[in-house]
Amino acid sequence: MPAEQFPNEYPIAIREIRSKSILSASQIYPYVINPYVGCQHACSYCYARYMKKFTGHKEPWGSFVDVKINAAELLQKEILKKKRDTVWISGVCDPYQPLEAKYKLTRNCLQILADNDWPVTVQTRSPLVLRDMDILKQAKNIAVGFSVTTADDDIRKLFEPHVPPIPERVNALAELHRSGLRTYAMIAPVLPGAESLMSMLDGVVDYILVDRMNYHYADSIYKKHRLEDRLTDGYFSWASQKIISDCQRFGVECTIVC
Ligand code: SF4
Repeated sequence: MPAEQFPNEYPIAIREIRSKSILSASQIYPYVINPYVGCQHACSYCYARYMKKFTGHKEPWGSFVDVKINAAELLQKEILKKKRDTVWISGVCDPYQPLEAKYKLTRNCLQILADNDWPVTVQTRSPLVLRDMDILKQAKNIAVGFSVTTADDDIRKLFEPHVPPIPERVNALAELHRSGLRTYAMIAPVLPGAESLMSMLDGVVDYILVDRMNYHYADSIYKKHRLEDRLTDGYFSWASQKIISDCQRFGVECTIVC
């Protein structure tokens, strides 16, 4: 299994695989596409690490990625057999993690969905999505969202050091929004400093989703940096209320998912 070196000196094992299917049913949207198994972003709080139970990976989450090299080929066949409905890209990996620059799996899937008028919701943490602006603008029914977790980039470095900085994500959202695309921010999880996000997001998103995502994988980081008071129901309620009232002030639709 080849190992490559990626930004932040993070070693990763990459394997090219042929998947059996690509367009899966989802509880969040009708369908989901995950072009990769695993995620180079390696967020400390990531719930998707549960995937390891099913894939047999023994490596730490974030240190392996299986690349579904036949993703587009499968999708082209599967959309002919399934009822057209919204596709979420992606659920348990970032579709624009660094490997996507080389493999273009997300790009090729997006092109097929756009060519066939399938509605799409893209969700990422990476400005690499801007590379596909040509397809995004061609698609008839598309929303592009960024996951953002805090307005404080020092906090971001503690919890998600391998992910593009928050200002880069907001700038990418602004560019997408200026291009006429429907954009959203998914505030999940609600990290310390999330309460100030609307001052950065005003004018670049059409709607906001907030999800506490209370999975406890990152509790040790809260403890190590004495942030436990930000891991409470009280903080979450206060931060959510602040985001809701800022959204009302700015006229942005806001949904608290949980
Ligand atoms: S970007 Fe998403 S899928 Fe990837 S590690 Fe972070 S939370 Fe998990």
